[in-house]
Amino acid sequence: MLAIECNRCGRSGWVRPDEVSLLVRPEGCRLFRFTCQSCGLRAERCLAEEELELLVGAGVKPIVVPAEAVEEHGGAPLTLNDLIDLHLLLESPGWEERLAPRRRGSRFAWPRRRVGQRGEPETGRRPETGAPAG
Ligand SMILES: [Zn+2]
Repeated sequence: MLAIECNRCGRSGWVRPDEVSLLVRPEGCRLFRFTCQSCGLRAERCLAEEELELLVGAGVKPIVVPAEAVEEHGGAPLTLNDLIDLHLLLESPGWEERLAPRRRGSRFAWPRRRVGQRGEPETGRRPETGAPAG
C-alpha cells in the first residue's frame, strides 16, 4: 500500500499500486494520478525523480509515452492515394533507398502522380502502372 495525500481535499489515505497511474512523458512532468477515496475526485501531481523511483520500486507500473507520440508533425495528412502509392512502392525494387529520409525534416521520396500526364486532366485517380489501356 502507498500512503498518499490528496491535493484536492487534503486528506491522507492508502492506495494499492494498481490503483494509481504513473505517466512518464519524454519531456515535462511525470504525472502521478489516483482517485481519492475520501472526496472521490481524481487527484494528480507532478513527481520528482526520487518519488518516481520510489513508486516504481513499490510496484507501480509506469506508462511510458514514446517520443513519437508527442512530436510535432507538419504537412498534409495522408490520403488514400498516398497509402496506395506507398503500397505500390513497397512492391518495387529499391524501395528501401527511396524511402530513406534525404535530410532532416524532409518527407519520404515516394513517387508522385504527375498532373496532366498524357494530356489527361487531373482526376485524383492513380495513373496506370504498366499494362496498356485496352
Ligand atoms: Zn481527496
